Amino acid sequence: MESLFFPKTSVQPDAKGKDLPMYLRMTKRLLFETDKRLLWKLFWNMGIKGVRSVQKHKKRLGKGEFFPPYLYISIINSCNLRCQGCWVDVAAKQEKIEFEALDRLITEAKAMGNSFFGLLGGEPFMHPQMLDLLEKHRDVYFQVFTNGHFITDKVAKRIRKMGNVTPLISVEGSEVISDIRRGKEGVYGKSLQGIKNCIENKVMTGVCTSLCQSNYNDLLTEEWIDTLIDLGVMYTWYHIYRPVGPEPSEELALSPEQQLTARQFVVDMRVKKPIVFVDAYYDSQGKALCPAATGFTHHISPWGDIEPCPIIQFSKDSIYDERPVKEVFNESAFLTDFRKVAAESTRGCIVLERPDLLEDLVERHTAQDTTARKKAMAELKAMEKRSSQYNPGHEIPEKSWAYRLAKWFAYHDYGVYKKHFELSNWEDHREKEFASAPQKPDDLVQIKL
Ligand code: SF4
Repeated sequence: MESLFFPKTSVQPDAKGKDLPMYLRMTKRLLFETDKRLLWKLFWNMGIKGVRSVQKHKKRLGKGEFFPPYLYISIINSCNLRCQGCWVDVAAKQEKIEFEALDRLITEAKAMGNSFFGLLGGEPFMHPQMLDLLEKHRDVYFQVFTNGHFITDKVAKRIRKMGNVTPLISVEGSEVISDIRRGKEGVYGKSLQGIKNCIENKVMTGVCTSLCQSNYNDLLTEEWIDTLIDLGVMYTWYHIYRPVGPEPSEELALSPEQQLTARQFVVDMRVKKPIVFVDAYYDSQGKALCPAATGFTHHISPWGDIEPCPIIQFSKDSIYDERPVKEVFNESAFLTDFRKVAAESTRGCIVLERPDLLEDLVERHTAQDTTARKKAMAELKAMEKRSSQYNPGHEIPEKSWAYRLAKWFAYHDYGVYKKHFELSNWEDHREKEFASAPQKPDDLVQIKL
């Protein structure tokens, strides 16, 4: 089995003066490693139309209306894996959003100007009609969050032909760590094969990692980034692991210091390595934000429930409502109140920092538990308050002009924190976590074996 695993290193990148060569190298990669038709589709559907969709979003906000410009849609609950800390009921009876309902949702969102959608699961490639759906909507762009196991050469060829899809394949560590995180042997190898199938077919491919204690030292390294570049991966995304759901695995969560190091690493690598780094939790000045609180995105569950975000499994609204989806979003008192409550209390993650406020919100609106297990409220009550990406006094602004510009235009708080946030509302949980996190991956392996 080919290994992508590298020994741990301490990374202190010095990116000064390396901007230009990096941009040239990135341009070279885009010109010589991609299919130009796919590159054009990405530029047009996600770039140009994406700009328009953000402008429409801003216009709506100006008129006191609301519809998120980016939707996460979990199209199916089933998955072939059983990952540590997963909050989705993957072993429950299969539930999926049928083609017709997805088609209606995407058509109506397109009418609002949306041009970019995130598809999640479970494992989205287990949805039998997903590719037909993507094929039908070739005028917009889809990012599919996947473990890559179902991306055979034939599937990759179809994705290339369509040209409007980028698989974001998750890799959770070395072969050993990855297989433990994901509950099965051979997971790593199959994900790697999925990546290779995509790249051999010149599909725009990303790799994401849910950064936690067991992969932090191995994957938050320059060597790992170089490996991705050598493989032909075009972009990467470090999520920060969030201990939520039925088995929260708190021992895997990063300390505030580690989160800060991860942020610094991403900012440094953005001006050093010819690969795109996605992140969802900071604006151009390095100020934390929550994409659900800002209204940039909300989530649809496999049951069609409209939720604030994938890990907040409560809802008052559904895509199966007879009203147009734009009315459902615009008139949702639950989502409106969520955005206000979240923005009032923190610039970070309300789930991690203030589960008590979420409890109040859910009770106030009599929102329904949208899980199959029907224990979401008990799980919320059992959560310990902890810190998140909000770490005031430690903001790390973007060094790269390209990211600064992109975030300045499209990825910021849309004024919500100015309107709602008061520092005096914020609870600081950073101190208690500094000394508590386990550091040796071996310790963590034993926890779950
Ligand atoms: S509530 Fe937390 S997990 Fe959900 S979008 Fe906001 S920061 Fe992310």
